[in-house]
Amino acid sequence: MILRAKAVFPVTAPPIEDGAVLITGQKIRAVTPWKSLRPHLREKVLDLGEVMLLPGFINPHCHLDYTDMAGSIPPPKTFTDWIAAIIAAKAPWGYSDYAHSWLHGAHQLLKSGVTTVGDTEAMPDLLPEVWDATPLRVFSFLEMTGIKLRRTPRDILREAVEKIDSLHHSRNRAWLSPHAPYSTLPELLERTARLAQKRGWRVAIHVAESQSEFDMFYDAQGLMYEWLMRNGRDATDCGQGSPVAHLARHQLLGENVLAIHVNCLARGDATLLAKNKTHVVHCPRSHDYFKHPPFQRARLAAAGVNLCLGTDSLATTRKAGRNRPELNLFAEMRMLATRDQTVSPAEILRMATVNGARALGLAGQIGELTAGAFADIIALPLSGKAPSLPEAVIQHTGSVYASLIEGRWVIPPK
Ligand SMILES: [Zn+2]
Repeated sequence: MILRAKAVFPVTAPPIEDGAVLITGQKIRAVTPWKSLRPHLREKVLDLGEVMLLPGFINPHCHLDYTDMAGSIPPPKTFTDWIAAIIAAKAPWGYSDYAHSWLHGAHQLLKSGVTTVGDTEAMPDLLPEVWDATPLRVFSFLEMTGIKLRRTPRDILREAVEKIDSLHHSRNRAWLSPHAPYSTLPELLERTARLAQKRGWRVAIHVAESQSEFDMFYDAQGLMYEWLMRNGRDATDCGQGSPVAHLARHQLLGENVLAIHVNCLARGDATLLAKNKTHVVHCPRSHDYFKHPPFQRARLAAAGVNLCLGTDSLATTRKAGRNRPELNLFAEMRMLATRDQTVSPAEILRMATVNGARALGLAGQIGELTAGAFADIIALPLSGKAPSLPEAVIQHTGSVYASLIEGRWVIPPK
């Protein structure tokens, strides 16, 4: 199949006017100007007209489980208030609530141009049923928590690994996520790091998300520290340095690690993350919901950290007026562009595509239009009003015009 479009934007190469993408099976065979495709003209051609083609977005951090909580938790006064609120919100939910919520989220992501998600999964029993019910490419990071020794880190990890080993899917797979430094014990981080190294798995962890988490590890004080001490957490790992330094101390920084949020940095943290090739996932609307300290994008970028864009969950996204929010990476891109005047639209687009692919260990396979990559492609209407293609992408509202995953239409063109 050949797709022809007014513009083709591979992201890793300059845009092509009147371009074409040649697809064979699940993969892209060529990305070229239309006029140089003559030798292949025996292939079926689909001329999409006034659209631009670009790689499907990669959203490396989401919680599909919580989609239907959209707008139900108003922005809290403190981070620990939010933790209490989500625990209460989850209490009455059963399997089918989570399954519906998960699938609504997958649908919202597809509509808004995401073709791959890294999803933190707190309800692993949903897998593989929900995987089979969506064409979205899904990497599920199984969430592990535990701050008391009643369930040992060894048992927590063993349970997650047994689940992972029981799952078989042609494309999707599960990896590990110790929830956060404050909600886990150091032994779980160390065991996870060793096992993930051995098995070649990715690991995602929320880290340095809030000021109170930072204060807990840096100074052994603050709201989170007090709250967790009241709930019986051991304090011997507190007061020893930043949350990022905590991960380093327990060997959980590396090329296979996705550090989610990283809103609070101590001196040296950016270098530590870069040196260990750890990826950072920024979630602009979740950041705005909590009013965290400003995200240190420029500092992390200058240190050489690979930066990606995620949606986080709708339990941490503000309502837009009276409307319930939806998962939408365009909205995340716009929020970042508004909050950070130093980042270019082209860089934002890289964060939403090729950088996310790198974080998930799939550079060259997804997040770019290039020969040999999977045909995960989206089409957006091209109005010609925006000064550049990246700006046109960021300004886009509503559903994408079309979307293709592994060479199959998941949203067919009209
Ligand atoms: Zn999260």
